Parts: sequence; C-alpha cells; structure tokens
Amino acid sequence: MGEGRQSVGILGGGLAGLALACLLAERGHPVTVYERDRAGGKLRRLEVGGLAFDTGPSLFTFPEVWRAFLARLGEADPLDLQPLPGGLGLHHTPFGTVPLPVPPEHPLFAEWERYLTRLEPLRPHLGPLLSTPPQLWRPDFLRASRALFGVTGPHLTAEGWIRAQRYPPALAHALRTHALNAGRAPQDAPALYALIPGLVGHEVFRPARGMGALLETLLSFARARGVEVLEGVEVTRLRGTTLTFRDGGAVTHDLLVSALDPQRLRRLRGQGAPSPAARRTVSGLAIYAALPGPAPLPATSVLPPSDFRAFRRALRAGAWPPDTLALVHADGPRLAVLLTVPALTRRLGPDHPWVQAELRRVEETLGVPGLLRSALDVQVLDPLHYAAGGHPGGAIYGAAHPLWRSGPFHPEPYRPAPGLWQVGTGVHPGGGIPAVLGGALTVDRLIGAAIPDAHHGG
Ligand SMILES: Cc1cc2nc3c(=O)[nH]c(=O)nc-3n(C[C@H](O)[C@H](O)[C@H](O)COP(=O)(O)OP(=O)(O)OC[C@H]3O[C@@H](n4cnc5c(N)ncnc54)[C@H](O)[C@@H]3O)c2cc1C
Repeated sequence: MGEGRQSVGILGGGLAGLALACLLAERGHPVTVYERDRAGGKLRRLEVGGLAFDTGPSLFTFPEVWRAFLARLGEADPLDLQPLPGGLGLHHTPFGTVPLPVPPEHPLFAEWERYLTRLEPLRPHLGPLLSTPPQLWRPDFLRASRALFGVTGPHLTAEGWIRAQRYPPALAHALRTHALNAGRAPQDAPALYALIPGLVGHEVFRPARGMGALLETLLSFARARGVEVLEGVEVTRLRGTTLTFRDGGAVTHDLLVSALDPQRLRRLRGQGAPSPAARRTVSGLAIYAALPGPAPLPATSVLPPSDFRAFRRALRAGAWPPDTLALVHADGPRLAVLLTVPALTRRLGPDHPWVQAELRRVEETLGVPGLLRSALDVQVLDPLHYAAGGHPGGAIYGAAHPLWRSGPFHPEPYRPAPGLWQVGTGVHPGGGIPAVLGGALTVDRLIGAAIPDAHHGG
C-alpha cells in the first residue's frame, strides 16, 4: 500500500457501516464491508401480501446531518425527502390528544410556543452536537455543550426537565414519549431527549421512494467509490487487525472499523459478558400488515404508555409493562405497528396475550376495531430478530448507560484499540439515522486527522 492508502475492513453493513465506507473510500482508501446477513441491517425491504415495506427506521429527522454527509461526498441529494403529513404524529395521551408539532388552532399552541422559545438557543448548535467529536477542547463542541446546558439547566433527566417547565399534563405526557428515542423511560433518559420534539419540529421526512431509498443510495455511493460489500460473511473473531470468518477464512487489513453493537465487538475480541436486561435499552416488536384497502388513519399515530412510572418499573425489572409505546404508521394499504418491549431475548408474536391486549388498545383508541384481523398478510419482527445482528435481548440502541455517561458524554470510545475504530447506533449518542450518520462523519474526521488521505499521501 502507498503511504496514506490504507486497506480498510468494515464489520457490519448496516447504515453506519455503509455510510462510513463511502466516506473512507472518498478519501481514497480501498474499503471492504463484511456483513453477516443482508446489507442494511435494521433497514431492509420486506414483501408482505405483495406490498413492499421498509423495516426499521420510519421517520427521517435532522436532515442537516444528511446534508452534511452529502456535502462531504460532493453528491447531490437523490432522496427527494418528503415532509410526512402530521409530523411526529397525533399523540393519544390519557389527558387528551396532542398533535406534535402543535398547530396554531390547537388549545395547547401557546404552551408549545413557550416550549419552542425555551430551546431556541440550542437550535444553531444541533448540527455540531450530532456530528462533532465530543471533545471539550473543540470550540464547536464546547459551544454546543454550553448551549445544551443553558437550556437543560440543572435537570439531568428528561422527566426532571419536563416537570420543572410545568406544562399542561397532555403536552408533558406527549413530550415524555420522545425520551424513548434514547431507548429508555423519561426518568432515565438525559434531559436532551425532552427537547427532541421541538428540535425536530416540522422536519419529519421520508424519502419519496420510501426509506429503502436511503439504503439504495448508500450502496450506490459506496459502489461508485469502489467499496466491496460482501453479504453473508460473518466475522467470528478479531485479533489486532485480522478478521476470521465463519467459514474459517481470515484477512488482515491496515485498519478496521466495527459498525456493530459494541458488546458484539467485545465478544469478537474475546472480551466482555452480555449486559443484564436492566442495563439495556428497549427492544421492539414490529408488525407489518397488508390491508385490503387504505386504513382510515393519519400517517402517524402515537399511543404512549398511560403511566410512565409503571412503564419504567417494568423495564427495570425486565417485565411486561401494563401498557407501552405504540407507533402506528398508515400509508395506503400498508400498516406498521411498532410496540416498544423490554429487551428480553424471546420469540414474541401477535398471538402473545400481552401483544393481543396492546393491539386491542391500539385499535380501540384509534377507533378501528378488527383492523388487523382484516389484513391479507402480516409479518412480524421480534426482539430475537433484532438480537440476531445486534445487542443482546434485541436492545435497539444497545446498552443503557448511567445518566452521567449518556448523551454527548457517552462512554464508548471511537478508537477502542490501535488500528480499530467503531461507529454505529450503540457508539454515537442519540440513536437513529441522525446519530448513525453523525457518528460516521465524526469518525471520518478523526481518521482523516490520524491518517493522510490516499489522494494526497500516495
Ligand atoms: C423498529 C425500529 C424503528 C426505528 N425507527 C427509527 C426512526 O423512525 N428513525 C430513525 O432515525 N431511526 C429509527 N430506528 C433506529 C435505526 O433503524 C437504527 O439506529 C439504524 O438502522 C442502525 O444502524 P446501524 O448500522 O448502527 O446498526 P445495524 O442496522 O444493527 O447494523 C449492524 C450490522 O452488523 C451486522 N453484523 C452483526 N454482527 C456481525 C458480524 N459478526 N459479522 C458481520 N456483520 C455483522 C448485522 O447483520 C447488521 O447488518 C428504528 C429502529 C427499529 C428497530
């Protein structure tokens, strides 16, 4: 290899691995992605009853991070992001329904405006907060952290911050729901997560050709830069910069990047034991249904747990909560119901009594009894599915860290060992597409600073 030109092996072809593959290939490094299953990870295209469904992420938020990613690659945006009607959706709280963002004609609009004003100082710093290495000596990260603490004040948790603002109960309940973007109850989520609905605001999108277009785009950017994406190749061991595969083969690269859950990485390196259920973020049960006709529902409906204290107690005990967060996406005859469940490695289907009760609650609350029974076909992804390529128990955002190590001050190092870097949902704070892309931009910047670009170096 010429000076600067480093062969890079990336473990995991989810969105994080593919995004970083594009960025490092853009620097002129030859990149190979090793994916145990299919590229896309949690985002994959399913066919249900002859209809195409995209699994995993359904809401595309904080598009400025995507635009920063495109700018780094010098690419135009092929996604044609479309605003999702109704934004974050209609929240059915025990105190009344609340659309987020709250529209001007709604009785809670003045309180919503008060909320937006409170977090306004943070808005310009959001991009840096999501895509800058979290190092306090970096001026942009320092400014962003100051702005964040200026808004959250002394409150460590989302619950603490929301209570202190004394919002009407319906708005407070709807805001609490979004703490679950941290994969945790609002009492255990950093205060930053209470601000998410306001920071997202009206910027809730989906690519015109569905979320699958994001995966297609990343794959085409990667291929155009010569990245090799090897599917069905599972890494079973990592020592130094040498990878061993399930079929016994091995390969050594100059540089490795893990885009896996950090605990999986530790196991491959011969370290660490699985986290206990109480120290995991939540998992999900996703039900994709092909209906005979369009569902009479808004694009997104949100049913929060009716009592967050009971919900938290259950999660901590690794038990079923009395009721949970249900997200319902309706798109013509396509219906997706996503239930938040504890991250217990367990097969779970629509016939489970707890799931049945939750689905009844969803149908009754939305006024569509029997809707799922009318489906022509249904497919279910359960915690076992999410555990197969991810964190134990199927925890969507990986391990749950103590508060003082959550959010921007996360404990996962970007470079756990010489020659080894890591990205992905369980590494960069936030979870979801913005964190995955922001994390890839961050690690690309750090690698770029550590190793000269191949274009310039040799
Ligand atoms: C139901 C659900 C709803 C969601 N909703 C949203 C949303 O609305 N908006 C949003 O922004 N985000 C959402 N998310 C989160 C988002 O989908 C994820 O954060 C993101 O897709 C994770 O990408 P990743 O690359 O970090 O991880 P993954 O997608 O988990 O990728 C890791 C990859 O590594 C592979 N792998 C594992 N072990 C090995 C090995 N030993 N060798 C080789 N390969 C291996 C896996 O097969 C997998 O492909 C949702 C997630 C779920 C599950």
